[in-house]
Amino acid sequence: MSKPFWLSVATVGFVAALCGPMGRAQAAEAAVGEAKATALPGVDAPQPPDDGKLNIIVFGAHPDDSEIRAGGTARLWADLGHHVHFVSTTNGDIGHWQYAGPELARRRFQEVTEAAKILGVTTSVLDIHDGELMPTLENRRIITRYIRRWKAHIVIAHRTNDYHPDHRYTGVLVQDSAYMVTVPFFCPEVPYLHDNPVFLSSYDQFQRPNPFRADIVVAIDPVIDAKIKALMTMESQFVEGGANGYARPALDDAAKEARRKAGAEAFRRRFAAIADRHRDKLIELYGEEAGRKVQYAEAFEICEYGRQPKADDLRKLFPFVGPSK
Ligand SMILES: [Zn+2]
Repeated sequence: MSKPFWLSVATVGFVAALCGPMGRAQAAEAAVGEAKATALPGVDAPQPPDDGKLNIIVFGAHPDDSEIRAGGTARLWADLGHHVHFVSTTNGDIGHWQYAGPELARRRFQEVTEAAKILGVTTSVLDIHDGELMPTLENRRIITRYIRRWKAHIVIAHRTNDYHPDHRYTGVLVQDSAYMVTVPFFCPEVPYLHDNPVFLSSYDQFQRPNPFRADIVVAIDPVIDAKIKALMTMESQFVEGGANGYARPALDDAAKEARRKAGAEAFRRRFAAIADRHRDKLIELYGEEAGRKVQYAEAFEICEYGRQPKADDLRKLFPFVGPSK
């Protein structure tokens, strides 16, 4: 049996203890050493119970991307008993202006674990350095194994024209796996899928070579508070600040509380803007009256790889989308 590849608190704790006060580069090497010790990563990836419910797997490049782009829809699925798994394809270990390495990776793992509890999903974080994800054969195998193990009906990932290389290559890796998940002699150590999942791209605003097309827009009003709460558990990102290197003064409790409030409001505006931008689609899907009332939304594009769902399929896959009965 190979060791699980996704991080556990114990694994990260071990890496952190091993590295002690090392600098960023040395700490990074130690983390790589830990990852290399695992064989066939993804072969023991999590599996959902076999209970006839939908299985959805969401890939985001960093420990916050799946939560931002699909956290509300995930919670709506979870509330109906469906199984949602989030995978961060990197460990987020340079996603802070002040420090980096295993200590940050461990913290970000803990943050997404807390967010997952709020959203009713499960979560994995691949032990790949933030900023260094590559569309390699080995990574294609890992992604393929995750999708197969989750017996996914729906797979969600970034589009391939996103600004961040980790986002882009997450999209590429998932698209590269979209056909291979059905090929028995590719990664034969994990049973292949007989039915190709529906592959969806999560929302972005990039225009070239083609803008995002909102094929499905999900009203997340019933779960917006849970989604915001989940996102704001990620204090390393949304209270202390992110990866861009600009120094921030130490925050006292009042300043932190002000940041939490401002961050929550900024997220509300962001998801309200998605609803406003795709109002026509909301009206098409939910009907005139309900569609106009939607305040917060998430949007997805159907990838041309994978199974192409008909309207009937979409109603089954997104049972909470449509006029209320
Ligand atoms: Zn990201």
